[in-house]
Amino acid sequence: MEEETDKEKEVELTAAAIDMMVMSQREWLVGVREQYEEDETFGELVRVLEEKGKCKGIGEWETQVGKKLVDKARRYTWRDGLLWYLDERDRELGEEEQRVELLCIPKGGGLRTALFREAHDSLTAGHFGADKTYNFLHERYYWPRMKVSVKRYLRGCETCARVKPSNDKKMGLLQPLPVPTGRWEHIGIDFVVGLPKVEGDKDAVCTIVDHTRRAHFIPMKKQTSAEDFAMIFMRNYFVLHGMPSHIVSDRDPRFLSDCWKAFVRKCGTGLKPSTPFHPQTDGATEKINGILGNYLKAFAMTHDDWTSLLPLEEFAYNSFKQKSTQ
Ligand SMILES: [Zn+2]
Repeated sequence: MEEETDKEKEVELTAAAIDMMVMSQREWLVGVREQYEEDETFGELVRVLEEKGKCKGIGEWETQVGKKLVDKARRYTWRDGLLWYLDERDRELGEEEQRVELLCIPKGGGLRTALFREAHDSLTAGHFGADKTYNFLHERYYWPRMKVSVKRYLRGCETCARVKPSNDKKMGLLQPLPVPTGRWEHIGIDFVVGLPKVEGDKDAVCTIVDHTRRAHFIPMKKQTSAEDFAMIFMRNYFVLHGMPSHIVSDRDPRFLSDCWKAFVRKCGTGLKPSTPFHPQTDGATEKINGILGNYLKAFAMTHDDWTSLLPLEEFAYNSFKQKSTQ
């Protein structure tokens, strides 16, 4: 049941996200076609592959263009005016070898910049680090030394420069935490504050992240009582996932304890279950919260109506590869 609810939400948001991205796709592909000729690497490959089309076999092709260029073109396909690169992906344990065709993007015409914008600073991205931005691009596109150009683009990103990671949190008092068995059983709660005020005076986001790094983003006021937060937690989290067995948060233990009491009262249970709140945090939660904090700050600073766009951000965050957090 709860899986179903999550999925429905995702389907709806995927459609919205795809609509926005597809709009300029056609125009953009025309630009890709036009730029191959000018491109240092791809221009030559296109000429070599066009020659292949005129030849009867590999032998004739080799005589025409030379073995060196035939070898160079081995991984490329020229189709409908677009150049494709055959990428052999690393095999993960138990998986079959993946061969993926990636669209080659020429250097000119601002095409790569447009992709960086989509992968790094668009509504559905959100100023992630170099690895995530690269993974996103490398799913579909290819050009030589892509990783280097991603890093160069990120160094020049003004929003990233304005939102520096904060290193002022202490990491002390770490205690080993129990290993969770199911999704959303073990969660971390954190608050990103100091965001631009919008409707209903909201100026903060509560982030709830589970151990698989799935996240919920809930807009709220920084000045929220423990009582009100219990209600927010119930409406936005508890109704979807039920009660987690373990919650870590570095919020004031008093606030968390009051919040838990209010929550139990609202549930109307006569039982006094022991609090699942733990005021310490582990390294992983800390790191994710730091990244999410920067991410949401960057997002809210650049969008006046950030609260209404927050569900889309949540979707974007969750649909990214969760393997690396940097
Ligand atoms: Zn950025």
